[in-house]
Amino acid sequence: MNEHPLHWFDSHCHFDFPVFDPDREQVWQQAQQAGVRGLLIPGISREQGQRLPAFCHNRPWFYAFGLHPYFLDQHQPQDEDWLAAALQRDAPVAVGEIGLDRVLADTGERLQQQWHWFRLQVALADDAGLPLILHIRGMHDEAASFLRRQRFTAGGMVHAFSGSEQQAKAWLDLGFALGVGGAMTHPRATRLRRTLAALPVESLLLETDSPDMAPAFWAESRNSPLALPVTAVMLAALKGLDPAQLASAQAVTLRQTFPRLSG
Ligand SMILES: [Zn+2]
Repeated sequence: MNEHPLHWFDSHCHFDFPVFDPDREQVWQQAQQAGVRGLLIPGISREQGQRLPAFCHNRPWFYAFGLHPYFLDQHQPQDEDWLAAALQRDAPVAVGEIGLDRVLADTGERLQQQWHWFRLQVALADDAGLPLILHIRGMHDEAASFLRRQRFTAGGMVHAFSGSEQQAKAWLDLGFALGVGGAMTHPRATRLRRTLAALPVESLLLETDSPDMAPAFWAESRNSPLALPVTAVMLAALKGLDPAQLASAQAVTLRQTFPRLSG
């Protein structure tokens, strides 16, 4: 295989989802040929998280453990003990994907339940000294001020960031990087592009969120890590950088955000 000159990393990719079962190897081969060198696969539930260490074994795929607000109905009280133990026993690079989602919280009770799991997992990440992978929709101010009050210092990544410039700066002050993916590529996303253009390149991390969040240029409904190099070139253009400069900046930001990726 020819070595691609640029090295990219998909910092948020649900490559373990069954939608990739039929052709996962083929997609991974193609992604490598396009310059993708590694993936970070978020945890979403206990059942899924338990499979991740074996799934990533002997691959340049890294994983995190977390209980995602989208799967609220699956989470059980005993999952807290599992998560606490798994963070010590295995080698996750972060706690996540966890967060607060106003769209999913259709009732006050569900929002309370989201907060319950969010608080609890932030505390576990704090104990383990691990960064967070955050899923935040319509709750940036609340989530950021909570972490500030908690004096959470391990930082992490706000995946698929789509907030305002002011909200972006609040996250940067807390030591977080912001995930950039398919959303930026859509013609109507002018506010998001303006925000990203105004932020330091060191604060941005490329991601696909595959199989979701397909970019505007993507023909399939299933997004894949193969889309990352094209999104990267678009981000480089937005930042007025050579793609190689962006690739080096990404490597630095990745190691700073997720120190366990350095090994
Ligand atoms: Zn995700």
